[in-house]
Amino acid sequence: MEKYDSIVIGLGPGGASALYKLAREGIKVLGIDRRREIGVPIQCGEFIPQYHEYKKILPEVDDPYLEIFSRMPMKLVSNKTRSVSVYTPSGNEYSVDFDGYVIDREAFDKWIVKEAVDYGADVMINTVVYKLDRDGTVYARGKTGEFKVIGDTVVIAAGTSSTLLEQVGLFREVDELNLGHVINYQMAGVDSDPSVVEMYTGKDYSPGAYAWIIPKGDGLANVGLGIRYPYVDGEKDINVYMERFWKKHPIASVKLRGAQPLSYVGGLVPVGPPPDKTVSGRFLSVGDAANHNIASLGAGIVTSSIAGIAAGEAISKYLDGSAELNIYEDLWRRLLGRALDNGYKLRLVIDLISKNDRYTDLFMEVVGKDRIYDLVYTRAPTNVDLLKIAYNIVKG
Ligand SMILES: Cc1cc2nc3c(=O)[nH]c(=O)nc-3n(C[C@H](O)[C@H](O)[C@H](O)COP(=O)(O)OP(=O)(O)OC[C@H]3O[C@@H](n4cnc5c(N)ncnc54)[C@H](O)[C@@H]3O)c2cc1C
Repeated sequence: MEKYDSIVIGLGPGGASALYKLAREGIKVLGIDRRREIGVPIQCGEFIPQYHEYKKILPEVDDPYLEIFSRMPMKLVSNKTRSVSVYTPSGNEYSVDFDGYVIDREAFDKWIVKEAVDYGADVMINTVVYKLDRDGTVYARGKTGEFKVIGDTVVIAAGTSSTLLEQVGLFREVDELNLGHVINYQMAGVDSDPSVVEMYTGKDYSPGAYAWIIPKGDGLANVGLGIRYPYVDGEKDINVYMERFWKKHPIASVKLRGAQPLSYVGGLVPVGPPPDKTVSGRFLSVGDAANHNIASLGAGIVTSSIAGIAAGEAISKYLDGSAELNIYEDLWRRLLGRALDNGYKLRLVIDLISKNDRYTDLFMEVVGKDRIYDLVYTRAPTNVDLLKIAYNIVKG
């Protein structure tokens, strides 16, 4: 049985970033992914903030943890956006300046893995991990059958639907309240402003979440939405919501009138609180597998990558004997804890006002544009208690 210093399960942004960091530190590391091709299918809206915006959203994150994004070649960027517009259910638009990139997520995931390979990482694709033993034995099934490898340390970065965590004593909140079911079409022929990311709220289209038009330029856009089942009153099929948003939304349908889909994906986004425990024995959880996702937005590309780099650093220190493995907990909490907590608090506000479209409109009227900044920058304001305002609106 081949032995590695570290094995990374899942090569999305979280796992790939851990693989990269470990390989760069000279550690013998293997990355495994069940996909036949890294980054495919693209289960993503592909939107990330530009580098100077992370500095505002995540001021605690020092430059080395953002290495993936500072080094990312510009050819991975499909489009640059300048603002975000949020539409309330009655169609009021609140717009804020915000510099973003729409990346080519397939190329992005592949690029991180390629960089890791350049530093010496081993990679297996088309290989599913189905069992873990506490001693670090990883049981996998690949093209040529079943096999085992063993790792001194093992990173679980296998995304939202991973069932591997429970096998090693890790846990996170993934009940239906804490889970967004999402769908995304890449569409051509979209007639929206290519510099604006659009977010739409309203129970008829995205109960408990939001719908989006994320422009990729040249009439291409990611068009999608999320739903959370505790907020769904009638129709349960997410495709019906998507069809309604595309064809019937009073504002979006005008922009999507001539649009046609080029691809379709569904997926899950964790919107629960960060877990208490992300290290158990020699195992660490990273990215969506650890709810490292900004719950109010369902955004996890950047946060997962930062957690991946932090995991790589913690493992590297553990292997050279300079630290315990669980420094990873302190590290990711120092870097991401405030933003993830704020995202979760903002999500609790969204929970209250999502119960009724009138509440969402009223809430926006009361708190105004500044709170859209708070939502986009994941700030929990200290001078106003948003939860109290939302609660008072709901109570009439
Ligand atoms: C439709 C949609 C739109 C989104 N839009 C955005 C957006 O615009 N911006 C943003 O920031 N975030 C967005 N997100 C969230 C973002 O995609 C995730 O937060 C991010 O991909 C998390 O990275 P990860 O590495 O933790 O997990 P993932 O990217 O999910 O990667 C997990 C990997 O693990 C592999 N894997 C799973 N199980 C096994 C196994 N047993 N054995 C081997 N391999 C396994 C999978 O094949 C996969 O490659 C979106 C999500 C969805 C679903």
